[in-house]
Amino acid sequence: MAPLTMNPVTPGSSPGVRPPGVPVRPPLPNPLDRNIVGHAAMPDSWSETTQASALGSAYLAALEGLPADEKLPAGWALFLTRSAEDFREGKPVNQVVKLKDGRRLAYTFQQRSDGSVTVKRHGELRVGPASAGFTPQATSDEMVAAVRKRWEPQGFRFEGPWNSGDLLKLHKALLTLTPAELALLQGLFFRRGGADPERAGVYETEGWIAGITYFDGAFSHDDATFVGDGEPYSAGTLYHEIGHALLATHDVTLFHRLDRAISAYNGVIERFNKAATADEQTRMQPELERARKVWEEANARFVHGSDARYFEERFAGHVPPTKYSEKNASEYHAEAYWLYKTEPARLREFDKDLYDYFASGDYLRHWVKDGAGKWQVVPVGPELNPPAQPGPVLAPPREIPPQAA
Ligand SMILES: [Zn+2]
Repeated sequence: MAPLTMNPVTPGSSPGVRPPGVPVRPPLPNPLDRNIVGHAAMPDSWSETTQASALGSAYLAALEGLPADEKLPAGWALFLTRSAEDFREGKPVNQVVKLKDGRRLAYTFQQRSDGSVTVKRHGELRVGPASAGFTPQATSDEMVAAVRKRWEPQGFRFEGPWNSGDLLKLHKALLTLTPAELALLQGLFFRRGGADPERAGVYETEGWIAGITYFDGAFSHDDATFVGDGEPYSAGTLYHEIGHALLATHDVTLFHRLDRAISAYNGVIERFNKAATADEQTRMQPELERARKVWEEANARFVHGSDARYFEERFAGHVPPTKYSEKNASEYHAEAYWLYKTEPARLREFDKDLYDYFASGDYLRHWVKDGAGKWQVVPVGPELNPPAQPGPVLAPPREIPPQAA
């Protein structure tokens, strides 16, 4: 008997989602965009007198009614904001207003077309509540240990030089994830990267492990601005990358399953070829057939990037919520996800369909096009999560249900 050839199919080493870019569109408004406005500390010389002479009457009128200890710091922030392009164009600008006692408050300033100014006070910037078994007063090392322990059942790993402040922001974001989201994110790593000239964060797969790296840029604007109704600005990046992870999760799972099926099939082929006698090979036939079927099934199930393509098709022609969303379907999804998590009401108002995609749980489902070109939800199956530990994993022997005659 001629030796069997090893199955030559080897999936690529990175199952990252690379959807085609969205079609080029004419420039459209991105109402949920927010740009960062420079923010310097209020100088000692900033007084009621300087404020009155530096700001026009429309500005001063807008500051009326604020708590007494916030009038000067808010006036200073407004003074800095008034020359910003977004503000002059009438867009709302989020600013962190710092008080003498150390409190940091979220404010939104906006100039109306009639020249009037509105000042919206959101309240204190939220930097994360405590959760059971978690002590935010702990020192840095204790905090890292506490966070690690808190997320151990999830298989989350926290790598790199996390400081307690940044880690608390991530922890706070993770606390808002639903059980269904957490189930899909099992085993993710969260790495604190350093400086990066181009990126604030990145989701990527390294061999068997998928994870997120947050760079300095993710956290460097928290002092000046915020998202939602007072989340640190970094919440945008924290959720954006988690959005990438959620969109890629079925790809990663099905890729791992395929990879294991290939290894298992190749293993049986190898033993088959080494068998001393034809009788032995005959006895191995059922096992060989089972491994082949598992591989064929896994091969058919792995439809690379289908969830991203589904998202792209569903929202083709929609106005993307932010400028960055225009880059491609994956970024569109990531931007929409952070908006859904931090300001769902505004996202709903902006694009009800986009809001519904998240609210209905469609973003957690695996979408595959059927023969008629119609998108169908296909269960991924019981092996939902990639293994938390690296290294080759051979598939355990499985039983294939008897085929119907
Ligand atoms: Zn992104």
